[in-house]
Amino acid sequence: MSEVAILPAVNAFLQREHGHYINGISHPGQGELRPVVNPATAQQIAQVHDGGDEEVQAAMAAARQAFTGWASMPTLSRGALLLKLADALEQHREELAQLETLCSGKLITLSRGLELDQSVAYLRYFAGWAGKITGETPELSLPSFHGEKYRGFTTREPLGVVVGIIPWNFSIMIAVWKMAAALVCGCTVVLKPSEFTPFTMLRVAQLAGEVGFPPGVINVINGNGGLLGPLLINHPDCAKVTFTGSVPTGRAVGSAASALAKPVTLELGGKNAALFLNDMSTEEIVAGIIEAGYVNQGQICAAAERFYLPAEKFDRVLEVLCQRLSSLQPGSPLDEQCQLGPLANRAHLEKVSKLVDQARSEGDEVLCGGGSPDLPGYYYLPTVLKVRSADSTLMQQETFGPVGSFLAYQDEEQALKQVNDSPFGLAASVWTHDLSKALRYSEQIKAGTVWVNMHTFLDPALPFGGIKGSGNGREFGSAFIQDYTRLKSVMVRY
Ligand code: NDP
Repeated sequence: MSEVAILPAVNAFLQREHGHYINGISHPGQGELRPVVNPATAQQIAQVHDGGDEEVQAAMAAARQAFTGWASMPTLSRGALLLKLADALEQHREELAQLETLCSGKLITLSRGLELDQSVAYLRYFAGWAGKITGETPELSLPSFHGEKYRGFTTREPLGVVVGIIPWNFSIMIAVWKMAAALVCGCTVVLKPSEFTPFTMLRVAQLAGEVGFPPGVINVINGNGGLLGPLLINHPDCAKVTFTGSVPTGRAVGSAASALAKPVTLELGGKNAALFLNDMSTEEIVAGIIEAGYVNQGQICAAAERFYLPAEKFDRVLEVLCQRLSSLQPGSPLDEQCQLGPLANRAHLEKVSKLVDQARSEGDEVLCGGGSPDLPGYYYLPTVLKVRSADSTLMQQETFGPVGSFLAYQDEEQALKQVNDSPFGLAASVWTHDLSKALRYSEQIKAGTVWVNMHTFLDPALPFGGIKGSGNGREFGSAFIQDYTRLKSVMVRY
């Protein structure tokens, strides 16, 4: 097994002084230096300056100033710039993928095939909305006394400066979802990446400048979320907040924005479920569980963590699953053959370990994994928990790691109730060859997205977002339009 050679462009980028991208210029800033650590080695690879009030003021002012010109630019020209940025990401695919893997520990194959290729696809999808964001011309009912007539129509106006707060699990793709949606609607953006993955969006913003985005349209500020988040959200020029991340932080962001009557999109995790029916073979169930719960070490907000299996197949499925998961060798995520990379950061590793230890101490049975291999990075072995009941802590609490909690059921209706017995509702899946049951159950499952015989796949044409404690608002499809524009009604007497 061997690692891909780090490109000279990546090494050169890491050696530069880093901070923020404001008004079309890379600014290191003078804030405290924060180490950026490669989670596969636990070694520092670079540093980044933290931003503070000064950077927030500068970025918000740049975005506000750029807004008027950007919003009045011909819509197809905005779309054309998004297409050029997609081309630039394609040209810099390997460079950005390596940078992503070095900062997040994501397998290089996933960084290329998911993070970069999907970002390109989403940019092109949103570019296609240019010229198609329209209002309506309803028929009015006002009475006419002297022959006068009335015409009413609606237009969709961009909201203004959008603050996007980004997590570390998909540092480019999630930022692109928010940024491209806002930009095609005519908004400008200030993005706050996670402090663990501060570099990729700096590079994407530079590329945007190179392909012709006007200064101030895309700004990136790095630093501590607890400090920068409130500064950005409370800023008078912030017209909207869009956030993806953990439930507690999302709730704080939601409360802060709502207190100021600012629209907010929250895409939070939860505790997604996967229900397998008895007509699936053991082999199909095992493959489905791995797809649903263990890709990217479970660090996907839509990944399943609660698994409901038919009692008849329960023991055999878990036996084969453990064999399969235990055969995955942890290694360098820069190795194209590697199938098991590290978790994204030390704090997250500690959180996952603690939750599994708690489950163990409460009487759940760890069938495989349940610890870290003897490696310097932040690795955690794929873990299978046979939980003692639906009340087990890990049937309720998100680990966001490679930890599946498994429960056997005798009765499908009973299992369906357990799937819905959660304060969260981002996503779920049902697995069966019985199309009638698949459709009936997908209607009954309370989640923003229900997959049948698949899990975690997203498509730009299909809206994505949660219900209950998993957030509000929808990304993609046509649903994003109402999140980044406001309706204006115009009425004319003639
Ligand atoms: P957070 O949800 O806290 O962070 C997400 C983003 O919010 C980051 O950019 C973060 O900045 C920022 N942020 C932090 N505090 C605030 C605040 N008060 N106001 C505004 N923005 C803020 O996730 P963490 O990175 O801290 O990870 C904690 C746990 O969350 C993980 O262990 C994981 O379980 C879960 N998680 C879930 C995700 C999901 O998509 N569902 C994604 C990422 C994590 P900064 O990085 O500087 O703190």
